[in-house]
Amino acid sequence: MRQQAWHVLPWLDVVKAFEVHPGKGLGLKEVNHRLIEFGKNRLETKKGTHPVFVFLGQFKDFMVLVLLAATIVSGLLGEIADAITIMAILIVNAVLGFIQEYRAEKSIDSLKSLTAPEARVLRDGIESRIPAADLVPGDIVLLEAGDRIPADIRWIQAVNIEVEESALTGESHPVNKMVSALADELTPMADRSNMGYMGTVVVNGRGAGVIVATGMDTEMGIIAGMIQSVEDEETPLQKRLDQLGKYLVLISLIVCGLVVATGVWRGEGFYKMFLAGVSLAVAAIPEGLPAIVTVALAIGVQRMVKRKAIVRKLPAVETLGCATVICSDKTGTLTQNEMTVRQIYSDRRMIAVTGQGYDPKGEFHGGDPMKTKDPLNEALKVAALCNNSTLTKKGVQVAGLFRSSNKESPWGIEGDPTEGALLVAAAKAGIWRETLERKEERIGEIPFDSDRKRMSVVYKGKHERKAYVKGAPDVILRLCKNELTSEGIVEISDIRRRTIMRANDEMARKALRVLAIAERSLREGEKQDERIEENLVFVGLMGMIDPPRASAGKAIQVCRRAGIKPVMITGDHRLTAEAVAQELGILRGNSHGIMTGAEMEQISDEELEKRVMNISVYARVTPKDKLRIVRALKKKKQVVAMTGDGVNDAPAVKEADIGIAMGKTGTDVTKEASAMVLADDNFATIVAAVEEGRGIYDNIRKFIRYLLSCNLGEVLTMFLATLVGLPLPLLAIQILWVNLVTDGLPAMALGVDGVDKDIMSRPPRAPGESIFSRGLARKIVIRGTMIGLGTLIVFVTGMFLGGNMLTARTMAFSTLVFSQLFHVFDCKSESRGIFEVGLFSNPYLVAAVTTSTLMQLSVIYLPPLQAIFKTAPLQLWQWGIILGVAGGPSILIGLWRLVKNAGNRRTSVVGGK
Ligand code: ATP
Repeated sequence: MRQQAWHVLPWLDVVKAFEVHPGKGLGLKEVNHRLIEFGKNRLETKKGTHPVFVFLGQFKDFMVLVLLAATIVSGLLGEIADAITIMAILIVNAVLGFIQEYRAEKSIDSLKSLTAPEARVLRDGIESRIPAADLVPGDIVLLEAGDRIPADIRWIQAVNIEVEESALTGESHPVNKMVSALADELTPMADRSNMGYMGTVVVNGRGAGVIVATGMDTEMGIIAGMIQSVEDEETPLQKRLDQLGKYLVLISLIVCGLVVATGVWRGEGFYKMFLAGVSLAVAAIPEGLPAIVTVALAIGVQRMVKRKAIVRKLPAVETLGCATVICSDKTGTLTQNEMTVRQIYSDRRMIAVTGQGYDPKGEFHGGDPMKTKDPLNEALKVAALCNNSTLTKKGVQVAGLFRSSNKESPWGIEGDPTEGALLVAAAKAGIWRETLERKEERIGEIPFDSDRKRMSVVYKGKHERKAYVKGAPDVILRLCKNELTSEGIVEISDIRRRTIMRANDEMARKALRVLAIAERSLREGEKQDERIEENLVFVGLMGMIDPPRASAGKAIQVCRRAGIKPVMITGDHRLTAEAVAQELGILRGNSHGIMTGAEMEQISDEELEKRVMNISVYARVTPKDKLRIVRALKKKKQVVAMTGDGVNDAPAVKEADIGIAMGKTGTDVTKEASAMVLADDNFATIVAAVEEGRGIYDNIRKFIRYLLSCNLGEVLTMFLATLVGLPLPLLAIQILWVNLVTDGLPAMALGVDGVDKDIMSRPPRAPGESIFSRGLARKIVIRGTMIGLGTLIVFVTGMFLGGNMLTARTMAFSTLVFSQLFHVFDCKSESRGIFEVGLFSNPYLVAAVTTSTLMQLSVIYLPPLQAIFKTAPLQLWQWGIILGVAGGPSILIGLWRLVKNAGNRRTSVVGGK
């Protein structure tokens, strides 16, 4: 089946060769056989780093190498126990680093699989979306504008199909596709107008193809070098932290060098000082930082997935936390996208339609749709024919005359909900497309497009060809010359036009989405291009309700509290948009905050920029206008999130700071242009993602604060001691141990801390803000100094009161460890102290601190470890001093914050009255 010149065969021969029914697709059993025979429809990409190399990578840090060398020397010099312990600590450290890095890599991998492409396929007569990797040769795939072609196909249906093949041919101009066979077998690939190739993009039209090659057998697979790979992008914060890491290494090396030099100058043994200095460098350099940042990002991303937001580009996680404006489509994102026709205007009457959801059961009050003379009947007929959706019952397509009385509706639609609503309305009158199509046959189509705001089809009956058109009323009415009434076709007067537009406004004001229906008989020999949409006969208006999502209303309130401006952008009518915006709370009270596409066209970019901050609703706009809106907002220094679904939305989505694509209704092209995909197409999900984005940034700040203040404490202890001529307060092995028990597990646990309660009550963070801003640097320096001085004070106290160096060092050693284990709880919040944060809210942190405490107690109380770590058991009074100095600052700061925050709450309550 493989190496055939499919382009020279008639398409019926191609489907025959693949033993597939073009209207039903393959059967599942056959699909499984073919999956085994041909394999997955995937291009082979390079494998990730082998875990062994990730592990070995942990040792390539320069200071760790120096320490390894020093350890080997000390082993050779006879300090075997020391050497083995240092080795063991380094290995445990490497294991921790490995776990962090491996987890980061794995989470990034799983991210990629979440964003894997999907395809619409026909199998066993049922249309469904499946992962593109599961396609096999012979599958019938359905494609429309915005889809990326998932494998090599031979077109078997092509309605105005245009494909952009630059990924393969380098030619960026779209080419037309058709189904007829070509004569020349040697036609070059770029000219094979009946073939579609994997990786190319449908930019216009609608069609279907039979798959002729999958995976590495496709043209794209053959030119494997051209595969577009997903880049592992570093976020701006990761880049800045890398830079910071380099500075910290430099500073640590200088300080450690000073410690060694001063120590030696004061008469300490060189070897002992050198080992302590190198250990201090290993402890002071926050080598875990990049990995913890990646883990925090990756875990945050997984949390977002649980809330239905799929991040495609990691930097978006950070940008989300800075978002100041969220521009959202209306239909489906702010509303449920489950439409029901409620009112029909036809022949000067407003007809009410009853019924629920997609169940084709309901009545018409004010007109008789069963009477063929009644224009209402014609309106429903056109609505059913100018339609590509299908009605389903329990997932099975329905095309007949039976009705359901089932309480829990098993009815659904496949395709565009707007069209689904029209099908349901027609079916309520017993009008079914499939029945009508026994008499008329569809011979042409100009698909719906958000820019044109209309769709047309051409049907051929026994005697004539007719164009059936539907679309936005203002657009359609402009194209109408006549009107269908019960007396026949009459010319529309200006007064009638105004009456029709008033009927439109009346429906729109009730938040109904209105579509106009029109038709025309085509003249003999008349061409089937856009001109069929001229001189139309107006048949009616259909008004459908699309209820707002309850969660969207709540999310909009959250946005306001969080200092984020919600903006609605819609192709719908101004009045419909206004009614929905009022209901959701996007517009409050007045209608000044609305701008239409027509108004926007009248003003310059500069003018738009001036007004953009006052506009909350854009109505009757085209996707091109969205790009202007994004640009104007960005000029105003806003950080913009923008949603999109159609292929024409892709430029605006790409231009936005956070481009968001719809998971269900979004096209491949928009998804690829986006930074984030909403699995449930819901506005509330964007707000949830912003919350997580802020949370992730908070967590990164939390452990940076923790790691740096602790490291500063360690360095200061050693540096100040050598400076004032004290003996070494901690030995090399003890310093490494401190690093292990405090930097490892507790820091990792902070990285996955929960989201702070008040996170959505704060204004957004400025995008260029330093990670140390808002007082973080001050907090780090003050606390680091407190830890350093506290440890030294306990050391000196131990020297004088404890009586020997062993006890003094053990006391200093424990003070350093417990100061950090207390401090980790302070780092949970920047505004609240340990008595307010909920000490047990993060089980990982509780487990990490408990483990670290037990580890510390064991090196003090287990005799074999005492020998290795040069410690002595401590007495109760000594513990009193240690815990007092270590925990005192956290308790005092906690109490102070408790009083201060209670005071703030009181003033805000009083102020609010
Ligand atoms: P949003 O951007 O909020 O999703 P929307 O879905 O209303 O808005 P479009 O899909 O671009 O925007 O539709 C614009 C207008 O085109 C609609 O208001 C409607 O009048 C008309 N329209 C929508 N769907 C169809 C369709 N399938 N056939 C014909 N006209 C349509």
